[in-house]
Amino acid sequence: MVISRRVGAVLVAATVTLSLGATPASATGHGHGGAGTPGAPGVGDGYFPAAGNGGYDVLHYGLEIRYEPTSRAFAGVATVSARATDRLSRFNLDLRGFEVRSVTVDGRAARYDRDGQELRISPKYGLSRGERFTVVVRYDGTTGRPTDIEGALYGWVSTPDGSFVANEPEGASTWYPVNDHPTDKASYDFRITVPAGKTAVANGELVEQRTKNGWTTFVWRARDPMASYLSTASVGDYDLRRSTGPRGLPIIDAVDRDLGPDAADGLARTREMIEYFSDLFGRYPFTSYGAIVDDDEDAGYALETQTRPIYSGPPSEGTVAHELAHQWYGNSVSPARWQEIWLNEGFASYAEWLWEEHSGGRTAQARFDTNYARPETASFWNPPPGDPGATNLFAGSVYTKGAMTLHALRTKIGDKAFFALLRSWYSANRDGTVTTADFVRLAEKVSKRQLDGFFQTWLYTPGKPTAW
Ligand SMILES: [Zn+2]
Repeated sequence: MVISRRVGAVLVAATVTLSLGATPASATGHGHGGAGTPGAPGVGDGYFPAAGNGGYDVLHYGLEIRYEPTSRAFAGVATVSARATDRLSRFNLDLRGFEVRSVTVDGRAARYDRDGQELRISPKYGLSRGERFTVVVRYDGTTGRPTDIEGALYGWVSTPDGSFVANEPEGASTWYPVNDHPTDKASYDFRITVPAGKTAVANGELVEQRTKNGWTTFVWRARDPMASYLSTASVGDYDLRRSTGPRGLPIIDAVDRDLGPDAADGLARTREMIEYFSDLFGRYPFTSYGAIVDDDEDAGYALETQTRPIYSGPPSEGTVAHELAHQWYGNSVSPARWQEIWLNEGFASYAEWLWEEHSGGRTAQARFDTNYARPETASFWNPPPGDPGATNLFAGSVYTKGAMTLHALRTKIGDKAFFALLRSWYSANRDGTVTTADFVRLAEKVSKRQLDGFFQTWLYTPGKPTAW
């Protein structure tokens, strides 16, 4: 993510109607799966305890959405294919707002109820550990402009011309029933129907586009494992522009028609950037790339939505480099809990420095020095990037002190070990989730140095580091 302007929560939250499911659920289940126990209502993330759910692993989401921007009417059918990791009498999906019309598990009506963001589902028969199952949830409502814990717009944000959809950290539940935590990645299919003339853009590749009776359906397929916060389905007055990246990589950009002719200037060097980062970090992780350039400055930020970063307005070249670098660090190698956010933002910010140096601008050393010159009393040094707190995920220190941590590490262990470390960090953890402890272990292994004191100083100690 790159923030240009965070807007306070002055707008009404989602105007969707909340209602309880028709039939109360109970915690009993009888059948081939045995009684089992209810799955946990969260995965145990200390910053966002209600995010995600226990007891199963989602393999695939099939999301069918019909959306009319003027009335904000939204109707969804979510088909969630999963595998039970426990014996379950009941399990939860995260879903905020909307009216749930029906829930089936493996084709049979299931009992369900709602409790805040938890949609609790009791299949007719319990689920055995290891059993694969398919949940279909039909839901509808009117979308709004939801905000995150800091009051910034996120999730399915209705805009005058459609929607700006960016979910970090746990806003996917504002538009589909989901196991909303990066530890549960899945593949996705999107079938989005919008009034003819509008364009719907999601992750992956556009595999079908058909107009009938005044509505256009866009089918997007995202085959690579993806964390829910990186999914998008943005709707607007976009032109789709196709080009080709290195090794034939399909690039599909969506640029809002209402923006000026220079709206996509920041994207001009995308191909070169992919080549540069692929040389540095390892092969580009996914099956396609591109950008969504919107005209919704209210959101005031960019997010590295997988394969297709979304920008609330025309991005700078530096921001484009940042969101591209996240495809490796953040999207393919993802945080196992939100406390580890610096593994996303510190890395993407440092990659932005590397790109600037590569393209003839300031060196990474110069940027480190400029930042390091700030006084000890500057608020810049806090909170510590390794544990910023749930309301400071996007604090400046997470980005800049995080990037400085990597530069300081580079000067401590040398270029050879440092760039080998960046490559191994990616190759060893592709499509996975990681913690800082994993990074420290790998850094020590690659450099053959003891580094716990170094990381303690840079990541967990408040204030300006003076010796490391
Ligand atoms: Zn970022």
